[in-house]
Amino acid sequence: MSEPFQKFRDWIDNRHEYAKEWKATRNRRIAGYFCTYVPEEILIAANVLPVRILGSHEPPTVTEPYVFAMFCHLCRDSLAQGLKGRFDYLDGIVEGQSCLHLRQAYNAWRLHIPIDYAFYIHVPHGVQTRHALPYYTEELRKFKRSLGEWTGRKITERDLARGINVMNRNRDLMHKIYEYRKPNNPKLTGLEAMEMVLSSQMVDKEDHNGALEELLKTLPSREMDRNPGVRLMIIGCEDDDRIFMKNVENLGATFVIDEHCTGSRYFWNLVDSSIQDRLVAIADRYISRIPCPSKDWPELTRIKQAVNLAQTYNVQGALVIQNKFCDPHGIEVPPLREELKAVGVPTYPLEFDVTVPWGQFRTRVEAFLETLTGLEELF
Ligand code: SF4
Ligand code: SF4
Repeated sequence: MSEPFQKFRDWIDNRHEYAKEWKATRNRRIAGYFCTYVPEEILIAANVLPVRILGSHEPPTVTEPYVFAMFCHLCRDSLAQGLKGRFDYLDGIVEGQSCLHLRQAYNAWRLHIPIDYAFYIHVPHGVQTRHALPYYTEELRKFKRSLGEWTGRKITERDLARGINVMNRNRDLMHKIYEYRKPNNPKLTGLEAMEMVLSSQMVDKEDHNGALEELLKTLPSREMDRNPGVRLMIIGCEDDDRIFMKNVENLGATFVIDEHCTGSRYFWNLVDSSIQDRLVAIADRYISRIPCPSKDWPELTRIKQAVNLAQTYNVQGALVIQNKFCDPHGIEVPPLREELKAVGVPTYPLEFDVTVPWGQFRTRVEAFLETLTGLEELF
């Protein structure tokens, strides 16, 4: 089978061209969103295409007047894309409250880049309290009403059901494909898995579901002509650094699972379609999903999930990535490493910025891989 993941790669590389063509041919609106706490179900229900705003890994040179240089690179690089006009096809932007840095990126965009529509959803921080679900449901009601006013079209229960079905189908299909990361010789690399999930945040979910269905037909018979090497996990914030993934896997390793919001954390939880009130069902999904550390207290459920994934996917070690200046993830790094160590999974921390210094990282990752394979005992 030749290049079954090429479609996803092409979508990422040509994401802006795809969006422009989508808009021209369907004559519908596109909204950019920053954080995965934005419920795409409701945008889809409103016939609006949700696309995630992410950076390009070019050193940002234009954001200094708008956000502090000590904001995380995701925020600076995302805002830089807007300031450079790369997302000039967006009709609106939406943010779901998460961390302070992203809020600032959203506000700078809203204030300084011409945009027709901007909406900030007050996703509660205390998602583990009993107040979270009713509060967030009301926030979603406001969002739904606002979208209806913007598009001039009332969003019906049927529309919401369609949004839920499309999103759940996408999640379910990606779950199924992640199963093929479990065998001793996984049927896909970590880079391919990342490209699959990333592209789902950039294109029409119906197009993406079609590509996933095609992939599922051929993946079981795929023959991998590479030695999988060390089974690694990657854990972190938002992470779309494909060059890093490729370079690490070329050192004799395979990322067999991930825990970040451009990976499993994005799609792991489905909307419970047995809940009759569809807005409650959507709110419930985002309140009870695997949380981002910006909301994961007091329970630290994300750490439990990381440990569970590490064991289920039989990993030998984990790279723990922190985006430079990111406090929410930084705070969780020590307990996360301790919990993984307690179940016999060694970890190695790395700090990412807009561009990754691969020269330095290579030596460190190689040394880590050697400790995992026991090669150091030869010296
Ligand atoms: S790391 Fe957390 S706050 Fe940042 S985009 Fe992902 S889910 Fe949102
Ligand atoms: S990486 Fe950290 S600082 Fe940046 S958006 Fe995510 S949670 Fe916020």
